[in-house]
Amino acid sequence: MTAQSAAAAARATVYGYPRQGQHRELKKAVEGYWKGRVDADTLRMTAAGLRRTNWRQLAEAGVHEVPTGDFSYYDHVLDTSVMVGAIPERHRAAVEADALDGYFAMARGTQDVAPLEMTKWFDTNYHYLVPELGPDTVFTADSAKQVSELTEALALGLTARPVLVGPVTYLLLAKPAPGVAAGFDPLTLIDRLLPVYAEIVADLRAAGAEWVQLDEPALVQDRTPAELNTATRAYRDLGALTDRPKLLVASYFDRLGDALPVLAKAPVEGLALDFTGAAAADLDALAAVGGLPGKRLIAGVVDGRNIWVNDLETSLATLGTLLGLAGRVDVAASCSLLHVPLDTAAERDIEPQIRRWLAFARQKTTEIVTLAKGLAGGTGAIAAELAANRADLASRAGSAITRDPAVRARAAAVTDADARRCQPYAERAAAQRAHLGLPLLPTTTIGSFPQTTELRTARADLRAGRIDGAGYEERIRAEIGEVISFQEKTGLDVLVHGEPERNDMVQYFAERLTGYLATRHGWVQSYGTRYVRPPILAGDISRPEPMTVRWTTYAQSLTAKPVKGMLTGPVTMLAWSFVRDDQPLGDTARQVALALRDEVNDLEAEGTSVIQVDEPALRETLPLRAADRPAYLAWATEAFRLSTGGVRPDTQIHTHMCYAEFGDIVRAIDDLDADVISLEAARSHMQVARELAAHGYPREAGPGVYDIHSPRVPGADEAAALLRAGLEAIPAERLWVNPDCGLKTRAWPETRASLENLVAAARTIRTELSAS
Ligand code: GLN
Ligand code: ZN
Repeated sequence: MTAQSAAAAARATVYGYPRQGQHRELKKAVEGYWKGRVDADTLRMTAAGLRRTNWRQLAEAGVHEVPTGDFSYYDHVLDTSVMVGAIPERHRAAVEADALDGYFAMARGTQDVAPLEMTKWFDTNYHYLVPELGPDTVFTADSAKQVSELTEALALGLTARPVLVGPVTYLLLAKPAPGVAAGFDPLTLIDRLLPVYAEIVADLRAAGAEWVQLDEPALVQDRTPAELNTATRAYRDLGALTDRPKLLVASYFDRLGDALPVLAKAPVEGLALDFTGAAAADLDALAAVGGLPGKRLIAGVVDGRNIWVNDLETSLATLGTLLGLAGRVDVAASCSLLHVPLDTAAERDIEPQIRRWLAFARQKTTEIVTLAKGLAGGTGAIAAELAANRADLASRAGSAITRDPAVRARAAAVTDADARRCQPYAERAAAQRAHLGLPLLPTTTIGSFPQTTELRTARADLRAGRIDGAGYEERIRAEIGEVISFQEKTGLDVLVHGEPERNDMVQYFAERLTGYLATRHGWVQSYGTRYVRPPILAGDISRPEPMTVRWTTYAQSLTAKPVKGMLTGPVTMLAWSFVRDDQPLGDTARQVALALRDEVNDLEAEGTSVIQVDEPALRETLPLRAADRPAYLAWATEAFRLSTGGVRPDTQIHTHMCYAEFGDIVRAIDDLDADVISLEAARSHMQVARELAAHGYPREAGPGVYDIHSPRVPGADEAAALLRAGLEAIPAERLWVNPDCGLKTRAWPETRASLENLVAAARTIRTELSAS
């Protein structure tokens, strides 16, 4: 085929679409089913209706080939486990009794059995359920869900392509089942898994699929030669099948690097590659391996992970280059559109002028269709769209929101010294000891106290106008009063105000910083039926006025004990927002850091001696490729130090991290130069304390002794035992006593009991230490 005929055949497609519906109908139906308010048939009908709406929307926008099988009641990796029969022993009875209830038992656990573990899907904020495999795992094919969803789409008269998690990625995402040796490598099961995939793709072909897509994003991570060999063999075997549809192997989220030649040489009919961001490096890599002669290439040129309007001309240029490299080039988003909200049209609170800069799933679909048209028919065929796009991009680039000269001048003037405390740690520690007068093994909490129904009601009342600002303020102060008096009574040493005014630790600050946009309906699936509305870092960031100071100082006015000020750190602010694509992440982080620095300094000026800057997301935004990590950690740690570097030596800076294992970033944690760090540790029996010690971590640390993810109340003995384990790694002079994380998801009764036990444990150990 010539480049011209390759262009003429260009088609538009996507790999997946938001599942929830415009009004989160799926969430309501699934949660209703759990509560017994919705029956199974109604749930199935709601789901089928949502799929139909999505496909119609895609087809009406001009998408030629719609995805099927990407829909899920909970998670597509869990669906894959069901598809290949990888049901853990403990869930078998439930699955056999009722497939749907068994499915939800795997996802959420029951009274009697624990769910599958949940973890992040690559570097997105989506979480999947981790397959549990072992040497005894027997796979069996169950193509029912895939086949029926394909059949539904075909019945609508659409061209459809089933999308499956590929076998290599499935195994690479798995972990050894409980009871299986930790050294067990699930990838060794590939020869057992491939026949099951063979059966499933044959079923799909029999049901009418011309193409089947196998997603292999795990190949964009650093892979050993042995793992790449397994991928080579897997696709050689699948390619050699006789009864099969055409196979399309997809990758996304980063560049393929060494895995690119593996896929390019595989005996499959097509590849779908990401050409956005760092993955654009694959363009040259693809040319270097001689392209994909005679094959279909789906080019992911519209970023599936951000919410910015595409630069259509740049994308067309990329597509033009690719034309010479493959037999046929189609257009898509870089990955499933699962990671962006549905439709900007619903955002009526965002000024129309700014809304033009944004593209959610529906708008991205239109961009993809336009690009396919442009590729097939030349720029003349999309002249109007190109002109509108140029105007949108110019509007964004030229806006005062995007570029605030004062913010830019300040960021440009930052020096190394700004990002450094002026005294070395030893001097600071002495000054803080004298200033704070804390006992050995000081006790504290991570910040939030239970978010009660009354607090949520207060917020709803304020929004609905049932109470005014003063009335709301009154209720928050009352709550702060109770939280302070409880902590005093319980005998905690460093108190907190409890964060009652915060709906969410990122959103609260986003709403108070200039340059951030909030959405009303911009829901994105985080896991299962949990959806979040990430705010948008739209422009240059500044802080018009203090954001938290009045709450902290009010709390401090009620007690003689130190009250810890509580802020969300710059890296976490970026990680849980949609970020700018028009400047390096490090530049955005620096702006946020400077805004937080003002808040930190104001807290100090108003008498706050302990300030915590939370960075729970530091580990989770670590780049997928090791080669990219040092640069990330450099700007991330600098941003943290910039936000905290302006305080006096006797002001104690705390940080907090959770939701991850930190063993591989202890160096970076050290580089934050925080005086005290609290970390999640209860479930791992203080593992992180040993990791800090092994690194020679020199400052104070509070490995958590209370697992706040469970309503269970840890006994004082249990907390004391954890403290003794902590003391084996960290000397008493540097050990803090605290829970794993904030208490906002907990109820008061267990919070009270657990914190009383925590304080009792600290007292027991103090006595033991003074006796020895
Ligand atoms: N200060 C926050 C809280 O206690 C920290 C939350 C978090 O680490 N995710 O809620
Ligand atoms: Zn936490």
